[in-house]
Amino acid sequence: MKNSELVSRSLQSVWHPCTQMKRHETIPLVPFSRGEGMWLYDFEGRRHLDAISSWWVNLFGHCNPVINSAITDQLEKLEHVILAGFTHEPVIELSERLARLSKLGHAFYASDGASAVEIALKMSFHYWKNMGRPEKRHFVSLENGYHGETLGALSVTDVAIFSDTYSPLISKGLRIDTPDWRHAERGESPCDFALRCAEKLENLLEIHHPGIAAVILEPLVQGAAGMGMHHPAYLAKARQLCDKYNVHFIADEIAVGFGRTGTFFACEQGNILPDFLCLSKGITGGYLPLSAVLSRQAIYEAFYDDSLSRAFLHSHSYTGNALACRAALAVLDIFESDGVIAKNREKANLMTEKAKVLAAHPKVEHFRNTGMIWAFDVVDPSPDFSRRFHLAALKKGLLLRPIGNTVYFMPPYVIEEEEMDFLVQGTLELL
Ligand SMILES: *Cc1c(COP(=O)(O)O)cnc(C)c1O
Repeated sequence: MKNSELVSRSLQSVWHPCTQMKRHETIPLVPFSRGEGMWLYDFEGRRHLDAISSWWVNLFGHCNPVINSAITDQLEKLEHVILAGFTHEPVIELSERLARLSKLGHAFYASDGASAVEIALKMSFHYWKNMGRPEKRHFVSLENGYHGETLGALSVTDVAIFSDTYSPLISKGLRIDTPDWRHAERGESPCDFALRCAEKLENLLEIHHPGIAAVILEPLVQGAAGMGMHHPAYLAKARQLCDKYNVHFIADEIAVGFGRTGTFFACEQGNILPDFLCLSKGITGGYLPLSAVLSRQAIYEAFYDDSLSRAFLHSHSYTGNALACRAALAVLDIFESDGVIAKNREKANLMTEKAKVLAAHPKVEHFRNTGMIWAFDVVDPSPDFSRRFHLAALKKGLLLRPIGNTVYFMPPYVIEEEEMDFLVQGTLELL
């Protein structure tokens, strides 16, 4: 099959996400035929290095043999079954293992990140209602935060291009300054800046806490904001404040969970336990749509009752899909058997060392790194920077998708030294 034929058929039949379709009159759509490890191949045999893990989902490369065989094995036994009133081994084992890892429990499943956020918001509000506090119904979120694009998730998302159009449909929550250290004063450390932002959170909670159900944030890295990074001291302080003012802490680890920030969960770096933990993206290694919300035992107990209306009646058709759960179990197996967290620490050091040439480039500002995420802002006044950079990168065999003027690397963890060199060298030439 020819690339060009596939492109025209796709444009005729598929409404692609996050895209002004008319732009494809001039920007080529890239069809892929297969993937292997770090690489994606088109139909003419050209390959591209997947430096953004296919929108932050892939952890162990494309067509990973361990995950492939776990899924095919499961496929022979049970592909899917209704989870209301029924259960199966993969969902039980996954829930047990996620509970052990997160120190939370009773995983509630959905199929994508935005749905996990909806679940956490609804559960938090419903918890307070069950506790006789129905007036606690507002949510606090961070400036530039991103939590998905359904209407509920947009109410706590602060990315104008995704939310402004729909603002009449959205009941917007309370916004608080981002601790992203790029906004620090000159000479102010990321930690001092984080603590100064936490004071603003305290001011807000002090006044509004009787009406607030929860604070929701992306721990350590605000992904869609352009990989804005903050000091873990913010997490510890926000946790303290949530306790003090009787407000839930929802950790949206949809992008940062599963080792992305250097620890299995980002919250570990602030030494905190959230009340709700939202997971998706890396959970199946980028194979199948799955998300989960884990919560504290006290939350679960507030729903446990003879009354149906006190129960959490939310559901999705594919909740707890057996194939997806099996893929997630294979991902956890790889973490254990390959010592991924420790290995990633070495890889991250090596990559950061290599990326020094980028950090030192005269057009580069705010070079930053957390775990297996690297980002920098490019000083370039043209409004079209991100599109031009993306297209030029494709020509060099690099799949990169800058956010505004921020170029970031979020590679699968299977990246090796040779591929790091290819990525850094290519990016340097692009600059
Ligand atoms: C991607 C993302 C979401 C939404 O997940 P979808 O699966 O795209 O709905 C929510 N929160 C964060 C932090 C994300 O990065």
